[in-house]
Amino acid sequence: MIQYDNNEKLRKIVDRFLNIKTHGGNNNPSPHKPLLLIWAISKCLQDQFSLDTWQQSLLPHNFIKDVTKLEATSKRLMPYSYYKEIVEKELSPFSMFKTKIRIDMPYWYLTFDGVWEWNTSTDLIPAHTGRQPIKQYYRSSSAGLLEDDYNAISANPGFGLSLIYSLLDKFFPVTLHEDIIDAAHVPVHELQSLETKDGQSQETIERKVRSSIFRKKVIEAYTKQCAVCRHSVWISDHENLSPLALEAAHIKSHCWSGPDEICNGLALCSTHHTLFDRGAYTLKPVSDNNYVMLVSDKVFVRTNDIWLAQYNNSTLHLPQYQEQRPNPEYVEWHTQFVFKGGQ
Ligand SMILES: [Zn+2]
Repeated sequence: MIQYDNNEKLRKIVDRFLNIKTHGGNNNPSPHKPLLLIWAISKCLQDQFSLDTWQQSLLPHNFIKDVTKLEATSKRLMPYSYYKEIVEKELSPFSMFKTKIRIDMPYWYLTFDGVWEWNTSTDLIPAHTGRQPIKQYYRSSSAGLLEDDYNAISANPGFGLSLIYSLLDKFFPVTLHEDIIDAAHVPVHELQSLETKDGQSQETIERKVRSSIFRKKVIEAYTKQCAVCRHSVWISDHENLSPLALEAAHIKSHCWSGPDEICNGLALCSTHHTLFDRGAYTLKPVSDNNYVMLVSDKVFVRTNDIWLAQYNNSTLHLPQYQEQRPNPEYVEWHTQFVFKGGQ
């Protein structure tokens, strides 16, 4: 991570990006804004390295027409049709809702977070009342990062990468980071050779300490086994035994204010952790604070799958003490926002 203290301007950019409003009116979490920002920062980095990760053949048929119409279109500001037909598809696996991601929302509402420019080529400028513009404005619009931010990232690609990691750390569980980096085509190989200073902030260190305490408590409560498959492998390391590929998952994601409490945790092996964070299964309550695993019907598995199919509807291995078992409120959150759906 870059040392922001040496550069007030870059630090202010980070503050603005990390303080975007990410809860809707009904307090539902919306990861779509940070997803779109990660995509836009990645696009800026690709421009810097003159990479064409988006292929001409994939461009929507009306793209060229839109570009001609939008005289101001640059590499920075891309037309709406591009966001709608390319970006929306690429980012949709990371939607927190069962329904498809709608790029229209972050594409417009980011304007009010001071990180996004939205232009329309029509003479009729929509009133900036905060209400979404009507379709005709969308169709003739383009949007992207603010010019100063775009230039700051172009001038310092290492900063752009650290900004992406900061957004990932704040808004997404760690099991999703690599997949999002892939989907947003972040040019990590080109950036590898760049020197970035490792200036971990005090806050980062405190968070790491908190997370290791949480992990220890959860793994103990689950008697050192995966709640789903009972995986429990230990490795001897200088006479200490450490669990291998056993992790503490948050049921309500830590990024969305889920607490570091045992009743918001699950001990899971690495595979079941990733499958849980991606919504491939959830917990279905049965009697007495017991839960069974419920696999999403959006997941397709081979007949000999050993990770999901065989555990569907099987009882989970949970802590002995009732107060340590998954809190129904957090389970409900996971089922509503992360689980991909099913009976
Ligand atoms: Zn497991």
